[in-house]
Amino acid sequence: MTLNNFLFFFLIVYNLQVSFFLPINNKNRKLFSEIQLTEIGKFGLIRKARKTVPSHIHTGIDIKRPNKNYINEPVFAISQGEVISKRTDGPYAQLIIEHEINKKKFWTVYEHIAGITVNLHDIVSPEKPIARFMNKNELNKFGWQFDHFHLEILKTTPITIQPDKLHPDRHYNSFSLICFNSDDLEKHYYDPIEFLKEHMH
Ligand SMILES: [Zn+2]
Repeated sequence: MTLNNFLFFFLIVYNLQVSFFLPINNKNRKLFSEIQLTEIGKFGLIRKARKTVPSHIHTGIDIKRPNKNYINEPVFAISQGEVISKRTDGPYAQLIIEHEINKKKFWTVYEHIAGITVNLHDIVSPEKPIARFMNKNELNKFGWQFDHFHLEILKTTPITIQPDKLHPDRHYNSFSLICFNSDDLEKHYYDPIEFLKEHMH
C-alpha cells in the first residue's frame, strides 16, 4: 500500500467513525437550518406534571417530521455506534446507542419511534435508517402529540435495568423523568443542538 493510499484509507475510516449528521431525512443532513422543533420541543423546558408523570425538565429535543410522509419517514443515528438497548412497545419505543470519540463515550436516545430496523448490539452508522417516525395509523392510536421524535444526548452512562418479558432487549433507561433542575440536566445531558453544532462539520 502506498503512502497516498494509506492516507486515503485512513481518512475514510477516520471520517466514518467521527462523522455526524442530522438524524432526519432532510435535503442536507449537515445543514442546521433544516431541523425544526415542535412548540414545546426545546431542550431544558419545564414540563408540567401529567397524571402518571411528575413535573420534570425536557432532557432532549422534539424533532418535527421534515415533510408530509406519514408512511415511512426515516430516523437515523447521528453517528456510528452500538445499539445497547431497545424497546419496541407502542409510543415509548426507544433505542439507546453507545458512541465513542477519542476514547470518550456518549450515548444517544431515540424515542417515540416505530418500525425499528436494528437489533441489540448492532453497529449502526448514520447512513442507514434505524427506525421511522410513527405512521398515520400509529398516531391515530397513540395520539398526535407523538408526531415528532425525541432525541437525547447523554454525558453519563444510562441507568442499567433488568430486561423483562415485555421488554427483552431493554437494558438501559435514560434520566428523562428524573431531571428536576438545571444541575441534574447539566450532569447527565448535552444540549443536542449545541452538541450537533459542535461536531457536525
Ligand atoms: Zn421530548
